[in-house]
Amino acid sequence: MQEKGLLIVLSGPSGVGKGTVRKAIFSQPDTSFEYSISVTTRKPREGEVDGVDYFFKTREEFEEMIEQGKLLEYAEFVGNYYGTPVDYVQETLNKGKDVFLEIEVKGARQVREKFPEGLFIFLMPPSLSELKNRIVTRGTETEDIIHNRLQTAREEIEMMELYDYVVENDQVENACERIKAIVKAEHCRRERVEHRYKKLLEVE
Ligand code: 5GP
Repeated sequence: MQEKGLLIVLSGPSGVGKGTVRKAIFSQPDTSFEYSISVTTRKPREGEVDGVDYFFKTREEFEEMIEQGKLLEYAEFVGNYYGTPVDYVQETLNKGKDVFLEIEVKGARQVREKFPEGLFIFLMPPSLSELKNRIVTRGTETEDIIHNRLQTAREEIEMMELYDYVVENDQVENACERIKAIVKAEHCRRERVEHRYKKLLEVE
């Protein structure tokens, strides 16, 4: 029987650098997990490509996906919907490949309920002032949105307790390295692998 892949969920407060860390992980040639591209009603930012960064949809299209049960999780974040297409996740896990989600915390909580065996990693900023800097210097948001995102970030940090691991994003390369090490270790977790070795005992 094909062993299932691992569902890896990277989450954390707005502006912590989840997207940057995720992109850095996937730019490394030895990364073996598959990125699940999200669906969103947010307008594309400059340089973003439909089907690469997100699947960009209208609110009507998104709500239809909710009704048809096509999303593993979804959340409204600063006025826009974001969600994870369920079929891609299931099919990829069934092929034995690890799937990587980079999502905000309300969505991560829904995934935890549906996939308690997933690997939940919380990306943490070194400090709140650092977090504010990152949101401001990204320069793509209005003042109102920045204020909103910071308020949301404070509430999001309180949700850390739902996670298995906390990774500080002091430097992107460090964060990537820690995340990959956690995934490697998770693949050796006794509960995941013992059935293989029990089979060996039966043969002896
Ligand atoms: P941004 O608009 O900056 O691309 O993303 C805003 C937030 O939405 C980020 O925290 C990002 O991780 C999160 N996000 C991206 N895709 C998904 C998704 O499929 N589901 C949920 N719940 N959040 C998502």
